[in-house]
Amino acid sequence: MATGKIASFRLPPLPTIGEIIKLYKLRAEKQLSQNFLLDLRLTDKIVRNAGSLKDSYVCEVGPGPGGITRSILNAGITQLLVVEKDTRFIPGLQLLAEAAPGKMKIVHGDILTYKMERAFPKELQTEWKDGPPNVHIIGNLPFNVSTPLIIRWLENVANKTGPFFYGRTQMTLTFQKEVAERLIASTGSRQRSRLSIMAQYLCNVKSCFMIPGRAFVPKPKVDVGVIHFTPLMEPQINQPFKLVEKVVRCVFSFRRKYCHRGIAILFPESQRKELTDQMIDVADVDPLLRPVELSIPHFRRLCDAYGQLCAEHPHLFTYNFREELRQKKLSRNKMQRKVKHIPD
Ligand code: SAM
Repeated sequence: MATGKIASFRLPPLPTIGEIIKLYKLRAEKQLSQNFLLDLRLTDKIVRNAGSLKDSYVCEVGPGPGGITRSILNAGITQLLVVEKDTRFIPGLQLLAEAAPGKMKIVHGDILTYKMERAFPKELQTEWKDGPPNVHIIGNLPFNVSTPLIIRWLENVANKTGPFFYGRTQMTLTFQKEVAERLIASTGSRQRSRLSIMAQYLCNVKSCFMIPGRAFVPKPKVDVGVIHFTPLMEPQINQPFKLVEKVVRCVFSFRRKYCHRGIAILFPESQRKELTDQMIDVADVDPLLRPVELSIPHFRRLCDAYGQLCAEHPHLFTYNFREELRQKKLSRNKMQRKVKHIPD
């Protein structure tokens, strides 16, 4: 008869991350912005900030030499899937997988193309209105990957696809300090930007803690922020992601000007004045507020008003201000060439 508690899993003694780096000659590739975390107290802290991982299914993106991977394996998880692009790290990760029999799967691939909806058993899926599923994403990725990736994952949140096929999957990710600050920036703050609105209208975004650059090997030029995302039960803006993205992008195109300046570029020149006034009027937003002063409810009303105008004028949504400028410039150049009798 079994007595007492079943001991939870702990990794057996292993070479240190520093020794793994030497053993497999894992020199960080500066061009790929590889910066490693060797301090297991820090990697444990990142993993603790993901919440309880007991019996959970975790996807770690960019495990590299495996510091965070070790902390995840020691956190009582059921299964860990790691997605690593750089072949050099695979043998070191295999060593970890052997030390945690049946717990760890390694995918040698690119997280930007990996189909996360097939990663874990379908049975883990929960209703969106229920609590988050037992699925987590954790990662310390290069900065040039983490920003496009979070935009893609936010679109997945809006469409309940990719990692959000399972429900409101939580993510704990690192970003360079400046991006981390934008993600959490509140109305009126200097760091308020497109990223603040896109993240906060879909997720509860929490700053966990900052890691000084000196904690990484090699040391990056900037400090790093650990950010935790939990998708909201109800998005704060109920319009398609691409529409919200367009409104927010245009408004922040002129971040130091009054917001009507950015709103205006949503519309072709021929209807600009009339439709800008109409949108501001319907949204009931003060046109003299600066983009950073607009709250999410302001953006909700602006997106609803723009959605209404797009329904009335079907060509509007595909209108692109930069393209109109480019076309104008082209025809001006053509005219000038004609005047000077220069052939095309
Ligand atoms: N997680 C490790 C740590 O904290 O020490 C390594 C961090 S290093 C900043 C980023 C890791 O992500 C590298 O191992 C790199 O090869 C990997 N990586 C970069 N781009 C990737 C991508 N598109 N898909 C999967 N892994 C990627």
